[in-house]
Amino acid sequence: MRLILLGPPGAGKGTQAQHLVAKYGIIQLSTGDMLRAAVKAGTPVGRQAADIMARGALVPDDVVVAIVAQRIEEPDARKGFILDGFPRTVPQAGALDRMLGEHGLKLDAVVELRVDEDALLRRIESRVAAMTARGEALRDDDRPEVLHRRLAAYREQTAPLIAYYRRHGTLRTVDGMAPIEEVAGAIEKVVARPQSKVPAASRPRVAARKAKRIPAKKRARAKTAAKLGRKSEARAGAARARVGTARKGARRARKSPARRHRARNRRR
Ligand code: ADP
Repeated sequence: MRLILLGPPGAGKGTQAQHLVAKYGIIQLSTGDMLRAAVKAGTPVGRQAADIMARGALVPDDVVVAIVAQRIEEPDARKGFILDGFPRTVPQAGALDRMLGEHGLKLDAVVELRVDEDALLRRIESRVAAMTARGEALRDDDRPEVLHRRLAAYREQTAPLIAYYRRHGTLRTVDGMAPIEEVAGAIEKVVARPQSKVPAASRPRVAARKAKRIPAKKRARAKTAAKLGRKSEARAGAARARVGTARKGARRARKSPARRHRARNRRR
């Protein structure tokens, strides 16, 4: 299983990723953790990323993409993974599509944790207060002014991914404001829901809706009649066109592609 957790800082991606790790036995790939480890180890990537991260900005796409590309090649990623904090920009999402495509893999779902921003600030502030009380070291970028910049980076560079994955049909949204266990349950539910295998254009409802559209020729005839003042003729023409095409469309929509194919062969 391959999942993406999408949401602003403090949305609970890390917490939910741990739940999923325990539930599905797949690994969590957090680019934030990987970058922090690189900074700590003083690697060339870490040296490049340190200042950027401390400012709350995003590390360049090529740097992060290279880290992820390398990581998903490792044996423990074969069973699947949860991406937490990646992709964070549309070019990163494109790079991920290409990476997965090269291995013949695909994403099972992109789970958006939807939360409201005021609550996020409160959550992070209380996390910081709890860590301070325990005497734990804070993350450099958990300072209030940096946090605002991280949220701005999310709004500007990461939020467009919601539309990106909606277009791809992989987006699933859950309410990230609910208690942790409830959010975990909601994620399990949306992840278990299979994606539709039927291409959009052949789904019966879509076909029926399309069929209701009046063909251009009939529409033009009704318009001319209306212009000439032949109101009843115009109305009757439009109604006939609507009923006729809707019936035809509904009939067509009721038949599955396989039944349609068989019927066509029988006619031959
Ligand atoms: P959070 O989601 O709480 O903001 P992360 O731990 O995911 O924090 O990331 C911390 C920082 O690491 C980000 O602010 C950014 O500087 C950097 N980072 C992490 N992932 C990416 C990414 N995919 N692209 C660019 N920068 C990233």
